[in-house]
Amino acid sequence: MDCVFCRIVAGDLPAATVLDEPDLVAFLDARPVFKGHVLLVPRQHVVTLPDLPAGLRDPFLETAQRLARAVVDGLGAQGSFMAMNNTVSQSVPHLHLHVVPRTKGDGLRGFFWPRTRYADGEAEEYAGRLRQALS
Ligand code: AMP
Ligand code: ZN
Repeated sequence: MDCVFCRIVAGDLPAATVLDEPDLVAFLDARPVFKGHVLLVPRQHVVTLPDLPAGLRDPFLETAQRLARAVVDGLGAQGSFMAMNNTVSQSVPHLHLHVVPRTKGDGLRGFFWPRTRYADGEAEEYAGRLRQALS
């Protein structure tokens, strides 16, 4: 087994587990953005969000809600930031949701995305391509 998160789920690799459920496991990120940064993973090896079986969608989101509450209630955070890399910038190819505790003034100041602008008519063109892909 060469997937690091499958090894954690199987108990073959140590991790600071915060939730251990039949279908989902959550554990601390070894290199946290802030202390208490959690990774939520399905026990089953899937790589990206579109691969997540339909039956796990509700449990996954429900558990994300529970973790959002837990970083506030348990760690004293004021909120959280959640993120998921799918393929691009995904360093571990086993689906995982980052749950990062946030507090005002913690220095993250939102999320450092460079922003671009649409040329005239370009937003409608992009929206149309997405509508087509969704239909
Ligand atoms: P990403 O770059 O979105 O794929 O995130 C992968 C995350 O997994 C990184 O934040 C790493 O710090 C974390 N990570 C990698 N290996 C381990 C491990 N053995 N235990 C806990 N977290 C890990
Ligand atoms: Zn895996």
